[in-house]
Amino acid sequence: MTDCLFCRIVAGEIPSDRVAETDQVLAFRDVNPAAPQHILLIPKEHVADSLAELENFSVLTDLVKVAQEIATGAEFEEGWRMVTNVGENGGQSVFHLHFHLLAGRRLAWPPG
Ligand code: AMP
Repeated sequence: MTDCLFCRIVAGEIPSDRVAETDQVLAFRDVNPAAPQHILLIPKEHVADSLAELENFSVLTDLVKVAQEIATGAEFEEGWRMVTNVGENGGQSVFHLHFHLLAGRRLAWPPG
């Protein structure tokens, strides 16, 4: 999708701070971090606008594996969180399936 922000990041049209990458998945730093470590994990292909619309779950295996590998790094030792926002009440602002990987401080629960 040419008008999708994250598709444009995948294509390299918009710069990003890339952390990890596989054939199917890209991980890059959130431009407006909510924690010392705030990484977004996305399927490179625009397979769904959100988790609510995902039909083929195979990409999630790779995506979760990449998250687990990133979370072996510094600032993840004390714990981390992986979430996906769906729709308006979920707080979603970019409609290309993505997961937030957060760490580096005590994260509030339940979320506000
Ligand atoms: P969500 O609100 O769950 O849809 O998450 C979208 C996230 O994308 C937000 O945390 C934004 O800060 C982040 N974001 C928006 N534009 C960019 C960008 N160009 N590079 C990295 N992260 C971005």
